Amino acid sequence: MASRTLRIGLLPGDGIGREVIPAGRKVLEALPKSLGLDFSFVHLDAGFDEFKKNGVALPEKTVETLKKECDGALFGAVSSPSTPTKGYSSPIVGLRKRLDLYANVRPVKSVVPTAAFPDPIDLVIVRENTEDLYVKEEKTYDGPDGKVAEAIKRISERASSRIATMAGEIATRRQRVRDTTGGDAAKKALVTITHKSNVLSQTDGLFRTTARAALEQARFKDAGVKIEEQIVDSMVYKLFRQPSAYDVIVAPNLYGDILSDGAAALVGSLGLVPSANVGDGFAMGEPCHGSAPDIEGQNIANPIATLRSVALMLEFLGEEAAAAKIYQAVDANLAEGKLLSPDMGGKAKTTEVTEDILRRL
Ligand code: ATP
Ligand code: MG
Repeated sequence: MASRTLRIGLLPGDGIGREVIPAGRKVLEALPKSLGLDFSFVHLDAGFDEFKKNGVALPEKTVETLKKECDGALFGAVSSPSTPTKGYSSPIVGLRKRLDLYANVRPVKSVVPTAAFPDPIDLVIVRENTEDLYVKEEKTYDGPDGKVAEAIKRISERASSRIATMAGEIATRRQRVRDTTGGDAAKKALVTITHKSNVLSQTDGLFRTTARAALEQARFKDAGVKIEEQIVDSMVYKLFRQPSAYDVIVAPNLYGDILSDGAAALVGSLGLVPSANVGDGFAMGEPCHGSAPDIEGQNIANPIATLRSVALMLEFLGEEAAAAKIYQAVDANLAEGKLLSPDMGGKAKTTEVTEDILRRL
């Protein structure tokens, strides 16, 4: 079988990023050769320690290497300074801009049912990542009764259309996986467009109509993708009452930010939840947690968020079979529940959880 070599940039960053990214690399190296995949790796600097050493949090060399050499990347976590620090800016925000990673994709999945949520949770939040209130165009001025501050909320057809198209593609792929692996048979492909167009008829109104038009493309219809809409406040209510009702949720930047952190809380530990920053032809996996300085250096960080981020990156690079292998190995570890890290109530070390998952590959 002809093999494909993927070059992956490794950006461990700070804190437990340096413990979980090596686990991500190991899982790629342990994938069965029959998948026809090879990997080469390049280590790249970024983060607060890098800033303290060399005065930049995101070196130009890191950006250029990712642009010129890499198919994908794995990003650990970065610490941020506790007070505003001159010259420091977040490397992850910089990377999203420089590589035009316009989507933040966050799957939230439960493996073991809980009393609060007996039905399986298996949803994905697709957050637009380039505009909305995050264009950061703010001003403050003196009004007749004191200071007034304003921020621009910018929504474009282009950004709304491409994010909804990505949501449609993700829904199509998830349905294909359910059909072929006999996953939750009752679940059907569904994209929920989230907005507040009853109040913001122009900005959220444009997001809503553009997203709907993008999702009404024939290819999504043919794949059986259903479209529904929900106002963001009632979405929050229903998401926390009945998360099993959702499949793919697409949202503008701010609502997506809030929903995706909220949804992560549905499945227990931050150490379980992956994400990917995705652009055209490039994907960067990133666990949702931060650098967790409180547990750094103890070999107790849960590696699962990172391992699932590796799988997610592979999905966006077109390697669904390899991704499925990793998801299954992780789910099997969780379902058995014998080798769990402390955040999951277990006693296993980062390296022991990783080894258990590697064995299951
Ligand atoms: P940062 O400023 O980098 O975000 P933080 O102090 O906010 O760091 P987080 O990484 O956001 O820390 O984590 C919040 C809490 O969740 C911490 O108590 C941390 O120990 C725990 N936690 C985060 N990630 C993991 C993980 N992978 N495994 C176990 N516990 C984790
Ligand atoms: Mg944090």
